[in-house]
Amino acid sequence: MTTPNIPQRILMGPGPSDIPPRVLEAMARPTIGHLDPVFLELMDGVRDKLRQVFQTTNETTMAMSGTGSAGMETVFVNLVEPGDTVLVCVNGVFGNRMAQVAGRCGAKVETIEKPWGQVFDQDEVIATIDRVKPNVVAIVHAETSTGAHQPIDKIGAAARDAGALFVIDCVTSFAGAPVKIDEWQVDAAYTGTQKCLSCPPGLSPVTFSPRAMERVAARKSKVQSWYLDLSLIGQYWGSERVYHHTAPINMLYGLDEALNIVLEVGLDARFERHRAMHALLRDGLSALGVEYVSQDGHHLPMLNAVSVPAGIDDAAGRKQLLNDYGIEIGGGLGEFKGKAWRIGLMGAAASKRNVTLLLAALRDMLG
Ligand SMILES: *Cc1c(COP(=O)(O)O)cnc(C)c1O
Repeated sequence: MTTPNIPQRILMGPGPSDIPPRVLEAMARPTIGHLDPVFLELMDGVRDKLRQVFQTTNETTMAMSGTGSAGMETVFVNLVEPGDTVLVCVNGVFGNRMAQVAGRCGAKVETIEKPWGQVFDQDEVIATIDRVKPNVVAIVHAETSTGAHQPIDKIGAAARDAGALFVIDCVTSFAGAPVKIDEWQVDAAYTGTQKCLSCPPGLSPVTFSPRAMERVAARKSKVQSWYLDLSLIGQYWGSERVYHHTAPINMLYGLDEALNIVLEVGLDARFERHRAMHALLRDGLSALGVEYVSQDGHHLPMLNAVSVPAGIDDAAGRKQLLNDYGIEIGGGLGEFKGKAWRIGLMGAAASKRNVTLLLAALRDMLG
C-alpha cells in the first residue's frame, strides 16, 4: 500500500484556505475523552469565542460535527416543520442548496432570484416577505459561487415584524467580514471552519436566537434528523453534558486555536486585512485586464470572482498555477463554469505574500 506525498500548497481557492501551523499543532495534542473535564472546559471556551466572532449573546451557540453543509441542515431541520413556508433568496449555488435542503424538510419553498453575481435589494426581499408571509426567510451573506457580498442589515427587523425567522449562510464571510448576529436580528446562522477561520474542514459553528429556540421548543413534530436535533445535541454542549455523539476532539482543538488567532488580533484588524489584500489583488488584476464578474460595489473581499485572463485557458491555466507555482485557485461553478476564476483570500491566505505571488505567476504565464 502506498500513500502519495502530500505537497505544501498555497490555498487561494474557495476553501479550504491556508492553515496556520499553530492550528495544526493544536490538533496534534493528545486526544482525551469527550466528557473529560479538561475537554468540557475547552468546549466552553470555544462557545464563548464563537459568540464573540458571531457578535451575539445567543446561549445556543456551538460547533456542529460536520462541514458547513451540516450547519445548513441543522438550521433547516430544526426550524422547519412540514408544510411551513420558507422564502429563499437564490443568486448562486448556495442559495439553491438552501432551497433544496428546506424542500427536503417538507417546506413549501418560495424563491426569489437574481442573476449570478448580482445582489438582492433588501427592500425587494422585504416586500416579498410581506407578500409571501413565510415562516422562515433565508439568504446567503457571502455567495462563494459568485463573489457577491449581500447587504443584510435591514431584513431581520422586517422578518421579525412579519413573524418570520431570519436565517443567514455566513460560511464564507465569518471571521473575514463583519457578521453581526444580534445587531442584524439574525435568528439562525451557520458557518464552516475551512474558509476565513483557516482551520481544516470538519466543524460547522452555528448560533440560534432565543426566538428561534422558542420555535424549536414549540414544534409539533420531532426533528427528523437525530444527529442534528438541537434539543439533543444542546444537552451535550449545555450544562447537562449528556452524551450524544463522540465529539471530534482534535478538530475542536483546532477550532479553539483558530479562534484564538482571530481574537488576539481583533475582529476589526482582521476584517481590515481582508479588505486591504482584496484591494491589492484587485489593482494587480486590473493592470492585467482582469475584470470582476460580481456586481460593482458588492465584491467579497475574501472571494474574488473574476474573468479568466485573456490569453489563458481556464483549466490549463489553473493546472499550471497548481503544478508550477503550487497555487490552488477555484474554477467557476454553474453559470460561471469555464468563464470565471474564484480567487480566495480567506483567513491566513489573505496575505501580501500570496497576492504578490499569484500576480507574479499570472504575469509570468501571460509572458
Ligand atoms: C463552502 C460553503 C458552504 C458549504 O460548506 P461545506 O463545508 O462545503 O459543506 C455553504 N455555503 C457557502 C456560502 C459556502 O461557501
